[in-house]
Amino acid sequence: VNEMAASAHAANTLIDAPALWPAQGHTPTVVGRQLVIDRGEGSYVYTDDGRRLFDGTAGLWHANIGHGNPELAQVAHEQMLKLETYHTFARFTNDKAVVLGELLAGISPIERSKVILNSGGSDAIDVACKLARRHWQREGRTTKKIILSREFAYHGLHAYGTSIAGLEFNREGYGTESLVPETARISFNDAAQVEALIAQVGAKNIAALVTEPVQGTGGVNPPEPGYFEAIQRLCRQHEILLIVDEVITGFGRLGTMFASERYGLEPDMVTFAKGVTSGYAPLGGVLVSPRIWEPFYVDSADTPIFRHGATYAGHATASAVAIRHLEILERENLVPRVSELEAVLRTALTGLAQRQGAVTEVRVAGLLGGVSLAGHLNAVQICDDLIELGFISRPLRGNTLQISPPFIISDEELTGYVAAIEHAIVERE
Ligand code: PLP
Repeated sequence: VNEMAASAHAANTLIDAPALWPAQGHTPTVVGRQLVIDRGEGSYVYTDDGRRLFDGTAGLWHANIGHGNPELAQVAHEQMLKLETYHTFARFTNDKAVVLGELLAGISPIERSKVILNSGGSDAIDVACKLARRHWQREGRTTKKIILSREFAYHGLHAYGTSIAGLEFNREGYGTESLVPETARISFNDAAQVEALIAQVGAKNIAALVTEPVQGTGGVNPPEPGYFEAIQRLCRQHEILLIVDEVITGFGRLGTMFASERYGLEPDMVTFAKGVTSGYAPLGGVLVSPRIWEPFYVDSADTPIFRHGATYAGHATASAVAIRHLEILERENLVPRVSELEAVLRTALTGLAQRQGAVTEVRVAGLLGGVSLAGHLNAVQICDDLIELGFISRPLRGNTLQISPPFIISDEELTGYVAAIEHAIVERE
């Protein structure tokens, strides 16, 4: 792959670069420099030229149970031999999607949830935002259309995720302030500003507020104390639906099955993806509260329809993988293990937090860490250095290094990873 890219560079043109477009990357910077990962085992991945790297980010925060799990490979193999998938709306469904729905409703932070399944986190956000608007249209509150989202938020990059992005660069370049016009950004941590904005925009125009429990791509930002309590109160008071985006935090990343439990949130909808299968199959979805689904389940000829069917909604193989994945999480006690690892991570990061010239802030929630660097250091450069040392991190907003390893690591692997980060920082100081 890199040979193809190198010859494209040599010819001083990217035109002949490999056909796969690394969308989200600046091609002149990225093409020819991509590490080709061709194997993974546990907490490590291997490049095609044989380098072994500790996966300190679990890929894109997805590989919670680690890579190369043979049990999940076997389940996928068996399910594909039996039935790859069959769609799950109108006249048909498939057994695996139905079972997965029950399991998810059983662990959902929303009582009596219904579950919509699709292919990933961006999908899930599109569904949740559409359903919020559908809810108010059906109620006859036809002006309630605006979706509020937080500064620095990341909710994927489909039409709604792009529109509600709190990282501005993800919203730019489409000719309007937002692909879907009915959106507004609220402060990332200041509840008084949120209240003022609701007053300005008008609660009668607002359908929902979307928030990550801990912002991921925005820099690993846990909530300020009191912020979520205020958000929840404002949502109730103004009849604004609360959508909690648990695409990163769902399925144990914060030491509880869902972060909504940890922060005492009572969402109307929860979006999930990554951790539902640890990335062994593309799957995401939305947990929906009775307040929203009940009117769609009235036994009458006039009952409304939520038109959001898709070929892969409730994909049978992805669902079979998710079912076994949830068993593995429970059998291996991986969610409580995250709480233990959180304590190890906090201790390991105290040394780094004291390097005041180099590190401006360290943030931890569950097995999620963010290390923000002073201006003379460059997170992109430090991540490159870490690769040379055999470790993967990722630069996030705010010159921040991402820490989100798989749940299966030992205490020593976690402290070793933090030590490597510290070493890379010291070398560049
Ligand atoms: N929401 C959050 C909070 C995410 O972090 C992500 C992806 O990183 C998404 C949504 C989008 O998920 P996907 O990449 O599966 O479409």
